[in-house]
Amino acid sequence: MQLASYASHPQASRGRRHAEPAGQHAAEQRSEFQRDRDRIVHSSAFRRLVYKTQVFLNHEGDLFRTRMTHSLEVAQLARSMARALRLNEDLVEAIALAHDLGHTPFGHAGQDALNTCMREHGGFEHNLQSLRVVDTLEERYPSFDGLNLCFETREGILKHCSLANAQRIQAQEPGGVGQRFIDHSQPSLEAQLANLADEMAYNAHDMDDGVRSGLITLEQLGELALFAQYRDAVLRQYPQLAGRRLLFEVIRRMLSAQVYDVIDTTAAALKARQIDSADAARASKSLVQFSEGMRTMTNQVKHWLLRNLYRHPQVMQTTLQAQGVVRDLFEAYSQQPQHMPVSYAQLSDQPRAVADYIAGMTDRFAQREHERIFAAGPPQSTD
Ligand code: MG
Repeated sequence: MQLASYASHPQASRGRRHAEPAGQHAAEQRSEFQRDRDRIVHSSAFRRLVYKTQVFLNHEGDLFRTRMTHSLEVAQLARSMARALRLNEDLVEAIALAHDLGHTPFGHAGQDALNTCMREHGGFEHNLQSLRVVDTLEERYPSFDGLNLCFETREGILKHCSLANAQRIQAQEPGGVGQRFIDHSQPSLEAQLANLADEMAYNAHDMDDGVRSGLITLEQLGELALFAQYRDAVLRQYPQLAGRRLLFEVIRRMLSAQVYDVIDTTAAALKARQIDSADAARASKSLVQFSEGMRTMTNQVKHWLLRNLYRHPQVMQTTLQAQGVVRDLFEAYSQQPQHMPVSYAQLSDQPRAVADYIAGMTDRFAQREHERIFAAGPPQSTD
């Protein structure tokens, strides 16, 4: 299918930081964004996503989402919408698969703990860390660090960034991926789409995982306008339906409704603003969006999940424990760098090296390291 004029065209890419030859074989058909996607899939950081927590700790059950399955769901949603909008599917896929590469073990609890540990040393932001993984930390190529991805993929990976960090990036890479946080412009439409797909994916799968965990119930979800609307519609059609099949059908219809809503609303915004190039999209206000009605309903879902699931006492308890593990490890490696592999122990910026090392860990590796270093017993919260 032909890409729209406002899509990111691979031949118009702003390129890679290190020049590379084009594919060596006559049969090479991949676009630059497909090459990026393939590099991401083959990276070590991508494989580690299997063992990293989304909401529920990886060892709490085999069916809960992990960062890996979350990333695949984001990619699926983003690609569906990209195709309908004639945006670049390969680019949204690359961004979606890479968007969580910088996540610490133990989900947001881990990132908050690491951010606190790094307060005096520039802090820790997971979006920035994802960029750091693909720019610096992956060691796969003989002549450069990182994966050397295209500007457009890196731009999409850096979803949020503080002004201070944007200025730091800008100093090293003038006019690069830090620029838009300084002049408040938008990223490509593909980046905007991957961003929205992230939110759609976790709202949906956290309802599913939440009910599976027993921490929230199907009845409780009826408090949500979006859920109640589709539950009622499903029950009109299948009055006997109950339990997991009812839940799945409601979530499926909710997701479809959101996908169609984004496609229609975004197509209308592109038309109304007469956007005819990727750069015109960057200069406009955010274009990939829900309709106002859908936005209100999805915000309700988000806030409800925060109150009822993410801050559920049982989730908070594991959260506190996980934060203790991260804090303990940070302190231990800072005081005794020899506990880390030589390649980290010898780096001159020690706090950052410690943060990189911990951020790269899977949940279970962090637990094992904690047990190894603090051999006195199971990990304890240091509160
Ligand atoms: Mg995500």
